[in-house]
Amino acid sequence: MSNTMEPHVSNDPNDLSENALLGNMLQGIRRHMQYSLGCDSQSANNEYNFRATAFSVRDRIMHNWLQTRQRMQSTPARHVHYLSLEFLMGRSLNNAVMNLGLEGDLRSALVNLGLDLEDIVEQEHDAGLGNGGLGRLAACFLDSCANLRLPVAGYGIRYEYGMFKQSIEKGRQIEAPDHWLRDGNLWEVERHEDTKHIQFYGRTERYVDEHGRPHSRWVETQDILAVPFDMPIPGHDNGTVNTLRLWKATATDEFDLGEFNAGDYTESVADKNTAEQISMVLYPNDASENGKELRLKQQYFLVSSSIQDVLKDWVGRNGADFTNFAAENCFQLNDTHPACAVPELMRLLMDQYLLGWDEAWKITSQCMAYTNHTLLPEALERWSVSMFDRLLPRLLEIVYEINERFLGEVAERFPGDSELIKRVSIVEEGHDPHLRMAYLAIVGSYSVNGVAQLHTDLLKQGLFSDFHKIWPSKINNKTNGVTQRRWLSHCNPGIRNLLNETIGTGWTDDLEQLSDLAPYADDENFLHRWKGVKQTNKERLATYVKANTGISIDSSFMIDVQVKRIHEYKRQLMNILHVIHLYDRILRGDTEGMVPRCVLLGGKAAPGYHIAKLIIRFANSVFQVINDDPRSKDHLRCVFFPDYRVSAMEMICPGTELSEQISTAGKEASGTGNMKFMMNGALTIGTLDGANIEIREKAGAENFFLFGLNAPEVAETRRQYDPNAIIAADSDLQRIMELIEGGRFNQNHPGVFGELVAGMRNPNDQWLTIADLRSFIDAQQRVNEAYKDSVQWNRMSVLNTANSGWFSSDRTIQQYADEIWQTQALPRNQG
Ligand SMILES: *Cc1c(COP(=O)(O)O)cnc(C)c1O
Repeated sequence: MSNTMEPHVSNDPNDLSENALLGNMLQGIRRHMQYSLGCDSQSANNEYNFRATAFSVRDRIMHNWLQTRQRMQSTPARHVHYLSLEFLMGRSLNNAVMNLGLEGDLRSALVNLGLDLEDIVEQEHDAGLGNGGLGRLAACFLDSCANLRLPVAGYGIRYEYGMFKQSIEKGRQIEAPDHWLRDGNLWEVERHEDTKHIQFYGRTERYVDEHGRPHSRWVETQDILAVPFDMPIPGHDNGTVNTLRLWKATATDEFDLGEFNAGDYTESVADKNTAEQISMVLYPNDASENGKELRLKQQYFLVSSSIQDVLKDWVGRNGADFTNFAAENCFQLNDTHPACAVPELMRLLMDQYLLGWDEAWKITSQCMAYTNHTLLPEALERWSVSMFDRLLPRLLEIVYEINERFLGEVAERFPGDSELIKRVSIVEEGHDPHLRMAYLAIVGSYSVNGVAQLHTDLLKQGLFSDFHKIWPSKINNKTNGVTQRRWLSHCNPGIRNLLNETIGTGWTDDLEQLSDLAPYADDENFLHRWKGVKQTNKERLATYVKANTGISIDSSFMIDVQVKRIHEYKRQLMNILHVIHLYDRILRGDTEGMVPRCVLLGGKAAPGYHIAKLIIRFANSVFQVINDDPRSKDHLRCVFFPDYRVSAMEMICPGTELSEQISTAGKEASGTGNMKFMMNGALTIGTLDGANIEIREKAGAENFFLFGLNAPEVAETRRQYDPNAIIAADSDLQRIMELIEGGRFNQNHPGVFGELVAGMRNPNDQWLTIADLRSFIDAQQRVNEAYKDSVQWNRMSVLNTANSGWFSSDRTIQQYADEIWQTQALPRNQG
């Protein structure tokens, strides 16, 4: 279909071509306004305008969606099922319009209606079904899979409530539920016919079949239903539309007849509630385990419904012959959250399709692949055996047998090493035994990957070293990436147009082509235009900040940004200490040569994470004092941006000049925010952690502001760390601490920040904030000096963008496809 011409509209009633059925964009919007929404043009508000527009864009996805599904069925290629408890999708309309190349058509249709595309797009609620990096990675991966025409489907949960909405009241985080489905989700299509039964509780029993063979079954269970809702994932200008299938939990219609007849009609209908709880809410914990029974239910719910779905499709096409199942299917586990996939596939193959253990294990262990996302011990999932047994008794039997057989093999290969056996056991023994889900995932998978080179090296040397010894080729690296379609092309139209004009449009699907930009870093005229675009983006961000916080920022200031989940290891606290240092200089009149700066901080704290919430309160208190002090006015402005989310990042990263990536080395597995900023021409101030290392390698050390201890030095420093001595020996640090401890930022609330101070001063402070502070302040001073030379700064900015090609999720996904999934692109859609 041509995107530049309005489709020909036919009056022939027998013309069933797509164009004849759809009409043009304007007709589509009018038709949906009237027939789908029942709304006349007088009462159409922005909400209706958005819905009618989105419906008529969706119409243009449907044909290719059907075609892609058919091609997937008919083409021999290994199918990948990406299992994730989180998909942080953000908005869909803008993304679909861009990928389908509809922007021109749509704009002219909207002009006809007196409407503006930007206003319409703003109406859409973010689909916030994720916490942060892990969920956004899954979303970027789906985009890249569709772009590369790979046979990959996402599987997740259709949470009724996504990530909570954050507001700030009296400096504190307030959480409000995000009922994103309240007005309906017009991208989804319910597929009732693919509903699955999910079992919980009950007990297991053994029986012998008619051939005298023993089997197990899971009986007296409490069942619920999983109903799938499909979301389209359009590729960029390639006729491909992949699928994200999200499961909603509902009650079975099989009422408890006993209760029913006893007159407890309402009670038995009310059971519906208990069932629907499972897909009610996303757990808002990032990088920490949840430990709650409902969370385990969610995990099993996702895994069981998705695997049943895949098996039903397989059996529909191949019968119960599983010989080629592993060669033609792969499950990618996004962290250990879906690790129950290992015993669940075993269960279904053995109990439902009656395969023997060896055959089932051969299949399972050849089609599972696991991605690790963290080294933080508090984030490693462990489930209490007693809870697991109550909820999923049949799965526990299988996990025990997997473990027994695995430990038997280890004992054979490493005779006499009983410590090794204890260390690698899936079951952590003790008075309250637990299952180590990471170990279950490793034992059950043929591939285990880390998400940046450093992270993968640390997995091999540390957390998973025993497994690395047992299976030396299982652990591999796949450095994360982000999709340049959303994170550059869509969110930064100024740079997009400048790039297209300068190096052509090829970078949109092949980001390495950005290297063609490098020679322009020495072109004065180009640098001038680059700076102009950045200035426009800063002004746009300033307007957005004003609208969301009421705070005015001067767009001539350097824009210094740290946005990400609030976590101690990410060290927002260190950033605030630097802000206090600048304020201290202002108070002392030491502002000679100080570049005016706007520091923008944003991110959500898990509602139960006390220290993270206190850091938010601290930031807001410090920022308030500084902004209220007239002496700061020309030098420093501070903003805490509320409700950081995907659509906010789309505004923030194009306007950012300095990207703060300052985690304690060895703690941030990869980071992806760092990549979005680099792509958009921000310079990074960062530690040698996660993907920062690769960012610095690609950008060139001279175009990166490095500071702080590296991972081995962090380990070494922890052995004898004396933060109080470091503070005492450094007058800048002393004054920072005096301002805080003297109550400057909490005059009406004595002592509220005591815990933060005590944490930093504690020799056992895990995050080594004080150890890196001097080095951080010095690096910030180098930033300050570099910023004064505007030409040089812009040159470095261009080189960051030019060298960001490696950080496309297209590259990451091509590596998954080649090295883990062993799958190929499907042919292009013909019609
Ligand atoms: C990219 C992104 C993240 C991840 O940021 P990090 O800095 O890598 O932690 C989190 N949340 C949102 C909304 C994002 O867009």
